[in-house]
Amino acid sequence: MQSWGSMVPKRPLDSAADEVRAALGPALQRFGPDYWREQDAAKTFPTEFFDTIGQAGYFGTFIPEAYGGLDAGARVAAVLVEEINRAGGDAASVNAQMAICRTLVLHGTEEQKKQYLPGVASGDIRFLTVAATEPDSGANMAELASTARRDGDDWVINASKVLISFAEHTRLMILLARADEGTTLFLLDLDQVGGQVEMHPIDLVAHRMTSSLFIDDLRVPDSTRIGPVGEGLACLMKGFVIRRVLAASEAIGNARFLLDRSIEYAKTRKTFDQLIGVNQGIQYPLVQAYSKVEAADLMRWDVLDIVDRGEDGVPRSAMVKVLASEAAWETSRAALTTFGGWGLASEYHVERKLREGTVYVFNNLLMNLIADRALGLPKK
Ligand SMILES: Cc1cc2nc3c(=O)[nH]c(=O)nc-3n(C[C@H](O)[C@H](O)[C@H](O)COP(=O)(O)OP(=O)(O)OC[C@H]3O[C@@H](n4cnc5c(N)ncnc54)[C@H](O)[C@@H]3O)c2cc1C
Repeated sequence: MQSWGSMVPKRPLDSAADEVRAALGPALQRFGPDYWREQDAAKTFPTEFFDTIGQAGYFGTFIPEAYGGLDAGARVAAVLVEEINRAGGDAASVNAQMAICRTLVLHGTEEQKKQYLPGVASGDIRFLTVAATEPDSGANMAELASTARRDGDDWVINASKVLISFAEHTRLMILLARADEGTTLFLLDLDQVGGQVEMHPIDLVAHRMTSSLFIDDLRVPDSTRIGPVGEGLACLMKGFVIRRVLAASEAIGNARFLLDRSIEYAKTRKTFDQLIGVNQGIQYPLVQAYSKVEAADLMRWDVLDIVDRGEDGVPRSAMVKVLASEAAWETSRAALTTFGGWGLASEYHVERKLREGTVYVFNNLLMNLIADRALGLPKK
């Protein structure tokens, strides 16, 4: 299925990527596209797959060894999520479990890290959720209505959040609320306080397990706070560069899955007594999509080099997320053209990948960021 890829010249990164691919191969074969089609249709959490990745140690990719992690870094994470998606899977839960705990690694107290990180690294504790978005403020996370009020040594939280991924499947959740001093993060252990968090699932076009949340006068000790009071958004944003690279990697994986399938189909499906792949109407959209995916891929490693050098990865990470998600979207369109009516049939997995691709294409705020940080254009 991937023989066309052997025509692409090897890049330096490919050896690290090959290691992850080799290690991951058996698991990805076991959980093929049909497994994901079933999860999607039944709208279930992919528990067996998730636990398998956990047993392989990957959830500790960003966790220091002192807390039971691998500390393997962003390259491994990027290859991992790409490969899961390239094999027809959905890496969203794995991506979340690997990356969300970085906020705790970077800003948590020693006590919090010791209590939770080893369990997160092993997968025994699910840490899949950041609850930031609100019904009124939407993308503007600086304007929160959810509040955290001090009361003695405790905090009293009132919150309303929407579109929160995996809320019903996680044990740990980072919640962003507004204290008098500004935005502040709290680590909610739903084993302890879950009974006071009301959740309602939101049905989306893609199987993303999002919910709305309501919290009414929840009292938590100050020891649940992550990072300084008033700096919650700043702490969260420190994780955004890597999260954008991982989102881009997922999009690249989805695009490559669709390219692999489409190229195979174009080489085997005959109509009008010829292979459909001889038609330029089939070739050109695939060529355009392929070229854009390759370009996004190169920029992804460039961003990771920038991060490794300790330079500012913000504008570049925004660019790669925009490029990769647009390339994946264009690839879905090319795949639909290639498969014709069968592209809409779930058994070919094109329609599922098309739906999964929708979650990446909201890029306006990233383009604002690029306009500001890379182009120096005026802003409001
Ligand atoms: C699948 C999925 C999973 C999600 N998971 C989570 C999660 O786990 N945790 C969480 O906190 N949130 C989550 N979200 C919410 C996501 O972060 C929000 O959808 C996003 O912040 C935008 O908020 P909104 O949808 O209310 O759009 P709005 O803020 O209402 O914006 C509507 C549109 O206007 C555009 N827009 C708004 N302001 C500007 C501007 N100044 N310039 C240009 N364009 C602008 C936006 O880009 C958007 O396209 C998830 C969303 C989805 C779809």
